[in-house]
Amino acid sequence: MRIDLHTHSRVSDGTESPAELVRAARSAGLDVVALTDHDTADGWDEAVAAARETGVELVRGMEISTRYEPGDGSSHNVHLLAYLPDPSYPPLVEELTKVLAGRQGRVPLMLERLRGLGISISEADVAAASGDAAATGRPHIADALVTLGVVGHRDEAFDRYLGAGRPAYVDRYAAPLITMVRLVAEAGGVSVVAHPWGRSGRQRPDEADLAVLAEAGLRGIEVDHQDHTPQTRDALRAIGRNLGLVMTGSSDYHGTGKTDHDLGCNTTDPEEYARLLELAAAASQHSGRATPEVVRP
Ligand code: AMP
Ligand code: ZN
Ligand code: FE
Ligand code: FE
Repeated sequence: MRIDLHTHSRVSDGTESPAELVRAARSAGLDVVALTDHDTADGWDEAVAAARETGVELVRGMEISTRYEPGDGSSHNVHLLAYLPDPSYPPLVEELTKVLAGRQGRVPLMLERLRGLGISISEADVAAASGDAAATGRPHIADALVTLGVVGHRDEAFDRYLGAGRPAYVDRYAAPLITMVRLVAEAGGVSVVAHPWGRSGRQRPDEADLAVLAEAGLRGIEVDHQDHTPQTRDALRAIGRNLGLVMTGSSDYHGTGKTDHDLGCNTTDPEEYARLLELAAAASQHSGRATPEVVRP
């Protein structure tokens, strides 16, 4: 059983439609794939239809932009994977609407900064890159910069302009992490912190933070991810064991938008996946919400 629980389609900042992504998962030899676009469930229906046709098992999920402020003055952007929540749960919809508005609202601000750096780029350029994506992200601005010939690829755009601390970077709204953990549970879903110690280089949330989050309903951590070194994976695995969290592994596939993140490059242990599904069933029952089922071939 090959299980990949974190992928993106063109509905956010991947480069394939949800149906293409599901077919690519099958071709890559995956048995189970989760679609986890940033801050939206808009790709679910198309993915479900493709999964039924293709015969791959599909988990409906999303990757929610949150902020963790432990109270020591530090602030951390944390991505929270939410599996099988009721996407119509009003408080969840309300938060996601704010996040999506923040994504859209920062585009003109970032473009203003780019123009201040002498780069001629318009909102139409970004709209052409993002197409009908529900969640606009910096990768779309990066793609526009590639099309304009300003940079060669997405990574270069982040390194020179768009990454945190780079000259065109503008922050945006993110939901408080602990609030979102609670909302996902109330929506009958299972929450898993994505790449907890990824790009930022900081080891937060740490074990004590995660213990508090687990009390609030956090169920898992993504251990095997390309942004984690072998040492980081070992450290996270020890924490996962101590706290009884589900431990996942996944590609964080973005089509051609991210190199070295091929489908199935990391996978989730079938026993961990089974635990995740048990927790989802329990969360669904406890919430009383109409949650989506796993789509089985
Ligand atoms: P945003 O959602 O607008 O905050 O942009 C974050 C997205 O950009 C995530 O999906 C990341 O995978 C992607 N990303 C972040 N840093 C880089 C980078 N250096 N190169 C390419 N993609 C990146
Ligand atoms: Zn992304
Ligand atoms: Fe992420
Ligand atoms: Fe992701």
